[in-house]
Formats: sequence, C-alpha cells, structure tokens
Amino acid sequence: MQTPLNRTPAILGGPPAFAEQVPVARPTVPDGSALSSSVTEILRSGMLTNSCHVQAFEADIASYLGVEHVVAVSSCTTGIILLLRCSGVRGSVVVPSFTFMAAAHAADWNRLDVELADSDLRTWTVDPDSVTATLTASAGAVLAVHTYGAPCDVAALQAIADRRGIPLLLDAAHGFGAGYGDGQMVGTKGMAEVFSLSPTKPLSTGEGGLITTNDGALARELRIGREYGNPGDYNSRFIGLNGRMTEFAALLGRTALAEFPEWMQRRRTLAQRYARNLAHVPGVQFQQMRHGAVSSVKDLSIRVRPADFGLDRDCLAKCLAAEGISTRSYFNPPVHRQTAYRKVQPRAPLPATEELSATMLTLPLYSHMPTGVVDRICESLQRIHAAADLVAETTAAVSTSRRAS
Ligand SMILES: *Cc1c(COP(=O)(O)O)cnc(C)c1O
Repeated sequence: MQTPLNRTPAILGGPPAFAEQVPVARPTVPDGSALSSSVTEILRSGMLTNSCHVQAFEADIASYLGVEHVVAVSSCTTGIILLLRCSGVRGSVVVPSFTFMAAAHAADWNRLDVELADSDLRTWTVDPDSVTATLTASAGAVLAVHTYGAPCDVAALQAIADRRGIPLLLDAAHGFGAGYGDGQMVGTKGMAEVFSLSPTKPLSTGEGGLITTNDGALARELRIGREYGNPGDYNSRFIGLNGRMTEFAALLGRTALAEFPEWMQRRRTLAQRYARNLAHVPGVQFQQMRHGAVSSVKDLSIRVRPADFGLDRDCLAKCLAAEGISTRSYFNPPVHRQTAYRKVQPRAPLPATEELSATMLTLPLYSHMPTGVVDRICESLQRIHAAADLVAETTAAVSTSRRAS
C-alpha cells in the first residue's frame, strides 16, 4: 500500500499532492460585508483620498505599534524614497544585497550611491560587521531590512550609525506585527521604519505603505513630501511626490487591523508547524531569531543544503512545482547581480549573500492557510528527500539527453 511517505514523488510520475496549485502567498482580508456601508459613505462624501480614514488609520497604527507618528503613503517604495529625501541623506546608503530591490532603488531615485553589504548566514539579515566594513567616508545612512519578517540586529546597527553620526533607517516591508527582543514592536526603532501593505505582506491594503517615527519634525516633512512638497500654499518647498493613500485603502487597513492580531497568531502557529514537521529533515534549515525577537513570518523560507538534503534548491523547487506547490527563490538574484545594478559592484565579496541566494527557498504561507495544507507540503518535501537519489539520477539523465539531442 502507498502511504503518504512512500508514495512516488510527482516528478517521478506519482500523483501530485495537490490537484490545484497552492499559491506561495495570499492576502488575508476582512469580510467584505463589514466594509460595504463605509465604502458607500466614502463615495458619497466626495473625499476619496487622504482624509478621515487615513487619519484614523494612522492613529490606530500608532497606538498598535507604540510609536508617536505614522505617515500613510501609497507604497513602501514611495515611503523609502520620501524618507531618504526628507531626512536629508547625502552621499551613499548602505543596504544589504540579499533583499528585495526596492530599498536600493529608493536610494538611486534620490541620486544617492548604493553600497551593498553582506548578510549573516544564520539570521539571514544584514551582517553588522559587513556594514562597518562597507561604510565609506561618504556614507549618509544605513538602510537595514527585517528579512522575511525577522528583526535585524538593530542594536548593533544603531551603534554603528551613531558612531558615524548618520541615521539608521529600516525597511520594515516584511515586519508588520514582528517584535524586537526588548519587547518593543518593529516600527519603533531607528530614525524611521517603513512598512509595505502590498498583497504579499502580512497586513495588506492592496497597495500602501506606512512610515513610522518618533521624530515629529521628520513626520511633518514626510506629510509635506507626500503632497508634492506643497505645504498647502502651492509654493513647493522641495521636490516631493504624490505619495498619498486613498480612503479605500485606509478603510481596508483599519478593518483588517482589528483582526490582525488573530491572523498573526495563526501565521506563527503555521510557521511553528512547518518547523516541527521539517525539524529532522537533513539539509533543511530555518531562520535563527535573535534572543526574544519574534518574526512576523512574512515568508516561510528554508535554506536547502544540497550535500545533506540530496538535491539542490532549484531541483527541490521543480519537484515541489510538480506536486502543485508554488515556491519562490527569494532573493535570487541578489541586488548586486541584477542587471540594473551591473555598474554597482560591492567593495568586498559577499560570500553569505551568494550562498543564501543559491540555497533559499520560500514555501507557501498565508495567515488563513489550512493546517492540513502545511502538513501535506511537509510530507511532499520529506518524500522528495527520501527519493533524492532517484530524482537526482532521473533529472541528470533528462538534462544529459537534452544536451545530446
Ligand atoms: C515588498 C517590499 C518592498 C516594497 O514594498 P511596496 O509596498 O511594494 O513598494 C520593499 N522592501 C522589501 C524588503 C519588500 O519585500
């Protein structure tokens, strides 16, 4: 009899684990009926953007995170562009190469040079020693990232930034709901943090971003910046942009925020289940958290070490795709290997970044995902590991015959 564990993997001709493709992420959203009367009100009011729902959303977020000022914007990318502009950063910005491209892009949009730092092989967040080594005389800011939702080493990074007298800015795109080791929430540190509310993030308004800061003067500048740099008299003080959030997005955000703690709890429980189910699979590693820190688990990512797992990351991804399981290779290529950055070479080799971008695999996770789906994904992965030798032989034979033909 075929039990789930000895069933032939789909890549070798067995039946796939899922008839319908499991997406890698899906936004968790409130029930639409809770929104419909407020949507009608917004439509009747004639105030479609940056009005009372945006103000209320900002206040709700500020009290949820425990931060003084929240500036809602149209996206995290827009938020980082505005933040770099309004904090007066000059020269270069140090960002990790092992991350999503938006932080580096935001620096370039401000005509700032991008300096790429390496990451840590255990925590997968930017390595403070590499940041120190990357800082040049012209460094104007450190822009760190809470990779996959795990808080980066903000204490070490703040000390580095303080020694140089430059701001620490945080791309918190992944980190809504995450907590630092000292009990404070992500969104409360550095000069400012910037969240994304795009559909793959733990809290989503379709599109959107939130800049959080305890610096009142900076918050005022950001509010002017998101209005083209126009403080209201049409005499623009600096080159801002339209970075406003719509009332519809803010309404969705407020309604979602009320349910968010429950969603986050569920997301963490699912992540723990993945970790438990895969704890004894050789060559599968999970992200290491700093003491006391809690991740928002924006992504459930594993590091696949081919020597122990028996297959490399790309081959495992193919095997999972055959089972109906979507994956992503976040972040591959890393920033310094992307075409847009071909002229930006790192000052030193980035060995951990190279290793991570070759071995990281993001598995499906969303807050309302059924527990049974996690279990079946884990079973598939174990089955693929158990058949690794045969899979490796078969795929090698296929690529040899392709080369021959
Ligand atoms: C998604 C993401 C962004 C960009 O967010 P948008 O809201 O889409 O602009 C920035 N940084 C990281 C690390 C991200 O994952």
